[in-house]
Amino acid sequence: MENLLSTGLGFRYFPVFMVLKIVNYGDPILRKVGRSITKVTPEIRELVADMIDKMHEAHGIGLAAQQVGRDLQLAVIDIPKDIERPSRMWLEGKEVDLHDYMPLVLINPQITLTKKKETDSEGCLSFPGLTVEVSRGYRVSVTCMNLEGKTWSFDAAGLLGRAVQHEVDHLNGILFIDRLTKAERALAQGEIDALRGQSVTAG
Ligand code: ZN
Repeated sequence: MENLLSTGLGFRYFPVFMVLKIVNYGDPILRKVGRSITKVTPEIRELVADMIDKMHEAHGIGLAAQQVGRDLQLAVIDIPKDIERPSRMWLEGKEVDLHDYMPLVLINPQITLTKKKETDSEGCLSFPGLTVEVSRGYRVSVTCMNLEGKTWSFDAAGLLGRAVQHEVDHLNGILFIDRLTKAERALAQGEIDALRGQSVTAG
C-alpha cells in the first residue's frame, strides 16, 4: 500500500494557514464523542493536512480532531524514525515497516484489543507537561477509512499501538487520565487540577 497521504494530499491549492489551535484539558470539546465522517471532502483533507502540521509543530506523535476543537471521528499519528521506544505494525498478519505508513490518518477507527496489557508512560498535547503511567492493550487491531475513502485494517503494538488507543479514546471523549489506577491518579491529581485551573483562567 502506498503512503496514505500520497494521493490524498498530493495537490494543495491553498497555502497552509495555521488556524488550528490545540485545546487544553478543561475545554468541553474534549469530552465530545466524534461524529462519523461519511465522505472525505476537500474540507476534511484540508483539516487532516493542518492537523498533521499542528502535530509536528507541537512535537506530538498523535492528534485527535477534538484536540483542535472538532467533534469528528478523525485522528492523525506520526511515529518519528528517531524515537527510542519500539513500535510494531502488521498488515494482514505480516509485519511491515511502519515508517512506510506514516503519517497515519485514522477516519472512523474501530479497534479491538488483546487481553494482555502493558503499562508505559504517556503524555497528551492537551495536558502540557503531564506524563503518567497508563495500562493499555498490548496489541490493537484497527479498521478505519483512509483519505481515499477506502476501509483498511492493520495491527499495532508498542508505541504505535499505544498511540492508536490514546487517539481512539479522544474520539470517544475519553482522556488518558480516565485510564489511571487510583494510585497513579492520586499522584497526578495536583498537576491535573493545576492544568484545569489554567485552562479555566485562560477562558
Ligand atoms: Zn491526547
